[in-house]
Amino acid sequence: MGFFENIRRNFARFMSGRYGADQLGMTMVWTALIISIIGSFSGLRILTLLADALLIVVFIRMLSKDRYRRQNENQIYLQKTYKIRTAVTEWMNRVKNSKTYRYFTCPNCKKRLRVPRGVGSITITCKDCGYKFDRKA
Ligand SMILES: [Zn+2]
Repeated sequence: MGFFENIRRNFARFMSGRYGADQLGMTMVWTALIISIIGSFSGLRILTLLADALLIVVFIRMLSKDRYRRQNENQIYLQKTYKIRTAVTEWMNRVKNSKTYRYFTCPNCKKRLRVPRGVGSITITCKDCGYKFDRKA
């Protein structure tokens, strides 16, 4: 057995039954990175210490064998951030599709609607409430 194969096996044995990475962990890593960058630019040592502390928590969670608790924490995180995560995803889709679609908000129910770009003046019918309104697309 080769040296690296040995390391790989030992690492796999060490990690078996441990929780590993999840969405909450990745968010904490990115947050720590941003705080750390701000800390090093502003010279505020407290921020770099905070980033280090956050990373320590991330590692403790990853190496944890209490999977049930870690999954619960992640679930709470996903529930509390659902609105902002879907808003970010929707915004990214809008930017990505901005060349092919125009986006409108229904004046009646505020539902977001999209129509193909370049179709000229059209009557848009809201798929949710059936309200009709005229726009140029
Ligand atoms: Zn509507």
